[in-house]
Amino acid sequence: QVTEWRKLRDEVTVSKDGVHVELAANIGTPNDVAGVLDNGGEGVGLYRTEFLYMGRDELPSEDVQFNAYKTVLEKMAGKPVVVRTLDIGGDKELPYLVLPKEMNPFLGFRAIRLCLDRQDIFRTQLRALLRASVYGDLRIMFPMIATLMEFREAKAVLLEEKEKLVAEGVAVSENIQLGIMVEIPSTAVLADQFAKEVDFFSIGTNDLIQYTMAADRMNERVSYLYQPYNPSILRLVKMVIDAAHKEGKWTGMCGEMAGDATAIPLLLGLGLDEFSMSASSILPARSQLAKLSKADMQELAAKALDMQTAEQVVELVQAIHA
Ligand code: PEP
Ligand code: MG
Repeated sequence: QVTEWRKLRDEVTVSKDGVHVELAANIGTPNDVAGVLDNGGEGVGLYRTEFLYMGRDELPSEDVQFNAYKTVLEKMAGKPVVVRTLDIGGDKELPYLVLPKEMNPFLGFRAIRLCLDRQDIFRTQLRALLRASVYGDLRIMFPMIATLMEFREAKAVLLEEKEKLVAEGVAVSENIQLGIMVEIPSTAVLADQFAKEVDFFSIGTNDLIQYTMAADRMNERVSYLYQPYNPSILRLVKMVIDAAHKEGKWTGMCGEMAGDATAIPLLLGLGLDEFSMSASSILPARSQLAKLSKADMQELAAKALDMQTAEQVVELVQAIHA
């Protein structure tokens, strides 16, 4: 099987009936890019920039960040690279950024909420990204967007920094796609509104599941409620994909679900355009997708959306292998 996967490394990802989907990788540092290319990744679907901020005793400077982003873009040699702006808070803390303790950190002051408040931190990152944008196909993504106003505000800050750089004579790409993570149910529900303003969506199922089911993704006691295959999750995913397509935009997924062999047939059927996963899952996923017909999976997904429980959905998917 491993040799079969190797052969697939330099091929694009197509379903049995010839539909292309993109298989990208999640990375945390520039060093991870080698593994992405080695496993035939068609892009980076999620660069978690938190790691740049962790393991040091002060905020990373604009130049430190610029170098990291430039390195990733250069190594990816023109393939798409989706960089997520800082998603700190929740379970992720920074020693040099002292924030008040919260009752519910996952529902608290994190990610874009923190960045819109601490604009010094946000603007430094955006400037580094904008400067790096000329070295490849950079796409910028905001995490934990809950309202249209947050997206508009974050976009306005980005455009301000871009104008400043241009005025300073710094080269900035004119083709940076700007998207959001869909990981809060309010945003999935209003996806039709968001789709008119963003260039793309990336569904963050790790958080979308925990917020939809109200089940902490770290809490063993309620892990039985953390259900990727719950029809409610599948319906939200469908709403997001359909909303994007209606506006001619694309939808990816960068939560764990995107690389899950049981979810892949359903996601293909729901029309997902880009699957972003750990690099080691790419070749198995490409091999799996080559054996699935999208037309058949559309029928499967339609049935799954009408199921009542996650267990029924899993049985439905397992039946296609039997
Ligand atoms: C997600 O929420 O699905 C996601 C990809 O982001 P993170 O796991 O970093 O919260
Ligand atoms: Mg998340």
